[in-house]
Amino acid sequence: MQFEPVIGLEVHAQLKTKTKIFCGCSTKFGETPNANTCPVCTGMPGVLPVLNKQAVTFAIRAALATNCKINSESRFDRKNYFYPDLPKGYQISQYAAPIAEHGFLEIETKAAGIRKIGITRIHMEEDAGKLIHDPERARSMVDLNRTGVPLIEIVSEPDIRTAKEAGAYLRKLHSILKYIDVCDGNMEEGSFRCDANISLRPVGQKEFGIRSELKNLNSFKNVEKAISYEIERQTYILEQGKKVIQETRLYDPSNDKTHSMRGKEEAHDYRYFPDPDLVPLIVDETWIEKVEKELPELPDEKRRRFISQYQLSEYDAKILTSSIELAGFFEETAVSLKDKKQAANWIMTTLLGMLNTKGISIAESPVTAKSFSKLLFLIENRTINANAGKTVFEEMTKSLKDPETIVKEKGLEQVSDKSQLETMVDDIINKNPDEADAYKNGKTKLFSFFMGQVMKKTRGKADPEIVTLLLKNKL
Ligand code: ADP
Ligand code: MG
Ligand code: ZN
Repeated sequence: MQFEPVIGLEVHAQLKTKTKIFCGCSTKFGETPNANTCPVCTGMPGVLPVLNKQAVTFAIRAALATNCKINSESRFDRKNYFYPDLPKGYQISQYAAPIAEHGFLEIETKAAGIRKIGITRIHMEEDAGKLIHDPERARSMVDLNRTGVPLIEIVSEPDIRTAKEAGAYLRKLHSILKYIDVCDGNMEEGSFRCDANISLRPVGQKEFGIRSELKNLNSFKNVEKAISYEIERQTYILEQGKKVIQETRLYDPSNDKTHSMRGKEEAHDYRYFPDPDLVPLIVDETWIEKVEKELPELPDEKRRRFISQYQLSEYDAKILTSSIELAGFFEETAVSLKDKKQAANWIMTTLLGMLNTKGISIAESPVTAKSFSKLLFLIENRTINANAGKTVFEEMTKSLKDPETIVKEKGLEQVSDKSQLETMVDDIINKNPDEADAYKNGKTKLFSFFMGQVMKKTRGKADPEIVTLLLKNKL
């Protein structure tokens, strides 16, 4: 029997507000434990939460960017459970009436092309604190700096069918939230976290199968790997005629397996009820319109614009708009250059290659867009050739010097004096009569031999275009 995977993702994204969702404490990451706390976020008796308006604006922005409908009235509920990192004994969340619903994202994979993935809901909630376990001294400590930091939870419909699609959905969502500047997207710091729900059903069957929920997925790669493992595991169970049990599982990247964390019997009953300390949240049309007007260009729009404005291919535009930083780098590089396609090529090969080797992000690039643009301008105005450009780039990543300075110091200026090159070409043809004859008799492959000789003579600095013309003429 053939089985079809059914996957739905829940994403928690931390909103980029300066202060927490119900108090004025800072949301800054990495402060001394418990420095960012007050009676409200430590759950003291008698305090009252006050909703952060900026958090709501960010949630509306995220909802609009993911094609959701915004509810004019939503409510905050208490989700009750006990855990030492939750000082109030409940988390303020939205349950019955979330801020937004019924959205979708368009994703693209090689196997299935473009597909629409439904978004069930977006709701606002507060984050819990963090426990730090110290096994050496056999104790645990609690840090409440994160308690009360605003989150949105974005719940997808079970529309995803493969691990690759799950990866594409997450990358797209991550990219959008960064484009609209509501979340810093830092997965290591937990600003963007994902749980994956997976079940299998026989192909052709309408009803969903029993699902497991995977937690602890802290990178795009791990999400894809964990889902692939889970699909294999469930297929194996079903093929033996056994039943999958509904449970929460943890992914362990060290052995690329998932293991059971808790079963359904241990599932929480959260006893949700409306938080009596908070009035219903009313979002009127004027507010929505204002946020909509301020909405920046989204990845799909930017991709279309790159194609029409810079004549880039669909493929290049997709890569260059995959993150807001990369798109910005490209535009800043290309703005003063004639050849936009050349800028795109150099970014996608040389720059991304360097970042990849160094294992760093574009934000950490030692070469800025401004100096990268200067380098490409030197090639465009024929001060140096592409070959020398690579050498200059290498040096730029090490010494942070200006490309012009490097060209001067290393004497990399292109040799484009026609008569000088002509003498050289004549000389090389004279010294290699056999190759010249063979070329004339149709062995056109030898062209690169002659080109190589000229480059050798000029230590790679000859203007390849002029040399090509000269060689073609003379041969
Ligand atoms: P819970 O709050 O218990 O996690 P939800 O009903 O909110 O449950 O579902 C959470 C996620 O699980 C959603 O993304 C949804 O699309 C997905 N989901 C629900 N049922 C299934 C299923 N049978 N197989 C795969 N995913 C599912
Ligand atoms: Mg869940
Ligand atoms: Zn506080």
